[in-house]
Amino acid sequence: MALIEIKSAAKRYGGTVALDGVSASVEAGSCLALVGESGSGKTTLLRSINRLTHLDSGGVRVRGEPVSALDPVALRRSIGYVQQDSGLIPHWTCLTNASLVPGLLGRADAEERGREALGTLGLPPPLFADRYPRELSGGQRQRVAMARAIAAGPDILLMDEAFSALDAITRFEVQKTLAELRGTANVTCVLVTHDIAEALRLATHVLVMRHGKAVASAPAEELCARADGYAAELIARSGVPT
Ligand code: ADP
Ligand code: MG
Repeated sequence: MALIEIKSAAKRYGGTVALDGVSASVEAGSCLALVGESGSGKTTLLRSINRLTHLDSGGVRVRGEPVSALDPVALRRSIGYVQQDSGLIPHWTCLTNASLVPGLLGRADAEERGREALGTLGLPPPLFADRYPRELSGGQRQRVAMARAIAAGPDILLMDEAFSALDAITRFEVQKTLAELRGTANVTCVLVTHDIAEALRLATHVLVMRHGKAVASAPAEELCARADGYAAELIARSGVPT
């Protein structure tokens, strides 16, 4: 059974079609990358998984249950989510931000979980715990956002352009952390990126989106061979060797 199952997801904002019948399925332990240009519907689709997008039609199942039947707050607390703009609470320290979800879940060890997550993301608590988001670089803020997303040990992690703001070295480190998490904690990921090379490097499956539609979908190692039309053009433009 797929851990996440999206069927014919459709969403409009007024006259704008954000999603036009997208289906996707994510097996436990795999990593799906949603790739496409700005405005192609990636964020809208990602947020349908934790019910931050309310679909007009179609549906999403998480762990076998239709999300529409689940309590949205409990659902969101059970899924790690890194927002496109980090979304840290500005007047909270790094540690308070990182401990948020285990705290909301009533865990007695919330602060310890937050510290551990900061350490995992390469932010030693003695240096970073008491700092405020404004006292961090963009890349460090993004890492605190990732620490917050993993602190409660979710089985699903959603990441929206989580690596875009990072410099090359930090990006490499954080991507390595993600690969380790997937290996050791068996976290299932859905990540959004506009960078097809990044998608091919990090994901097991790739879904290429355009104008709210899935125009290509394949295991990462087969995408280049299978892609045609727009998806092939996107790959060619990215300079990924095929
Ligand atoms: P992406 O993440 O691929 O850049 P989005 O999912 O954010 O794309 O957006 C898809 C389309 O829906 C875009 O045309 C965007 O302008 C529109 N859209 C997204 N969110 C809203 C919103 N809250 N209100 C109005 N339009 C929106
Ligand atoms: Mg987006």
